[in-house]
Amino acid sequence: MTAPRPIALFDMKAQQALIRAELDRRFAAVLDSGAFINGPEVREVEAKLAEFAGCAHAVGVSSGTDALQIAMMAEGIGRGDAVFLPAFTYTATAEVPLVLGATPVFVDVDPVTFNIDLADLRRRLAMVQAEGRLRPRAVVGVDLFGLPADWPAIEALCAEHGMFALDDAAQAFGAALHGKRLGRWGHAAALSFYPTKTLGCYGDGGALLTDDADRAELYRQLRTHGEGKTRYEVLRTGMNGRLDTLQAAVLLCKLPLLADELASRTRIAAAYAEGLRGLLQVPTSIEGADHAWGLYSVLLPAGVDRARVQDSLKAAGVPTGIYYPKPLHHQPAYAAAHAGSIAGGPPPLPVSEMLCERILSLPMHPYLTEEEVARVIAAMRAVL
Ligand SMILES: *Cc1c(COP(=O)(O)O)cnc(C)c1O
Repeated sequence: MTAPRPIALFDMKAQQALIRAELDRRFAAVLDSGAFINGPEVREVEAKLAEFAGCAHAVGVSSGTDALQIAMMAEGIGRGDAVFLPAFTYTATAEVPLVLGATPVFVDVDPVTFNIDLADLRRRLAMVQAEGRLRPRAVVGVDLFGLPADWPAIEALCAEHGMFALDDAAQAFGAALHGKRLGRWGHAAALSFYPTKTLGCYGDGGALLTDDADRAELYRQLRTHGEGKTRYEVLRTGMNGRLDTLQAAVLLCKLPLLADELASRTRIAAAYAEGLRGLLQVPTSIEGADHAWGLYSVLLPAGVDRARVQDSLKAAGVPTGIYYPKPLHHQPAYAAAHAGSIAGGPPPLPVSEMLCERILSLPMHPYLTEEEVARVIAAMRAVL
């Protein structure tokens, strides 16, 4: 018997075939103009991103990580500041406060939504306040795997304590909560256009979305070395954090597909849930949310050998991923900052640790066929 045709964990080809002629046309226009930095495509895509999200301002930047960094630099976050963020997320969320000299305070996540646990956030905030050593400055809510965090609660907590509410929406562009797309929740939202995200370019790219004109202006300055009205006036310490014109051109080709792609992801997630429910914990949405299904991550039953499941699925042509194998407070780079973040040692983060043992991501992209989805379900049913 021949090996089954492998399924793609993320799609890199089917989508490109749909837009290849438009990509060629747009690339040729950039090559002809030579405006590789700050070309008109950058402004064009910023306007379209803001329109899609329904927010007032979009500022294109060089990556999702740089979007987080520019947003925190704009608030002046640095030494002596506490930045609260989930322990179960991508490394960049924690890296940025540390790069700026601030202290990440890791918060546990909810075992069903996998997003930041508000009760645990309140508890750790109270501990930092009682200790009085660090100033609580920001909460980074991550919309993990595409599911919006509990933004009404995060916003209320940040308003009560004068903190900056930053949405790390890197995995969730297109998601909405109570009829408002991400980009309108919190003070600002950071997007990543890494190729495998819901809207990806062909390299690195990102954006900041906000309804706040002053913040948008600051973001534009900071992404270009803090420059003012002329290139020779430096108003503040910034960075080189611009979005390339060629990447903006890619996004202009892909953005018109996004609404249909989000609908396909939703359909595929429903088919997975139907086929896998009862076998393992399937991901859910929350009341009032439109999930962007950036990743489809199931929770294997306790005690199941995950490596064996992955091997069996791989033999059936089904690739899987582990997002994430280690909670951030256990990463060598962050362990010391974590230990020192709350006097006497911070409380444990049992849900983040449990999820890292049992989480498994299945193929998820808008161009999966019904037959491929059925194959993934059958392969999972055969191994569990
Ligand atoms: C991808 C990602 C980032 C970083 O985005 P890059 O564009 O790769 O820098 C930040 N946070 C989360 C949650 C992500 O998934």
